[in-house]
Amino acid sequence: MKCKKCRTEIPEDAQFCYHCGWEVPQEPPPKKSLPLKAIAIGAAALFALIAVWRIAA
Ligand SMILES: [Zn+2]
Repeated sequence: MKCKKCRTEIPEDAQFCYHCGWEVPQEPPPKKSLPLKAIAIGAAALFALIAVWRIAA
């Protein structure tokens, strides 16, 4: 890839440009679809627990 600052060709996995020191923006880690599902299940379980608790109380 090319440095966006000085356009020097730098390796794809370079952390920064060795010519001008431009820091290569790191791609954010891929998002996992699991957390949203886990939160939904957790919320459902919590609501169920509260419902049971309220009936019992
Ligand atoms: Zn550069």
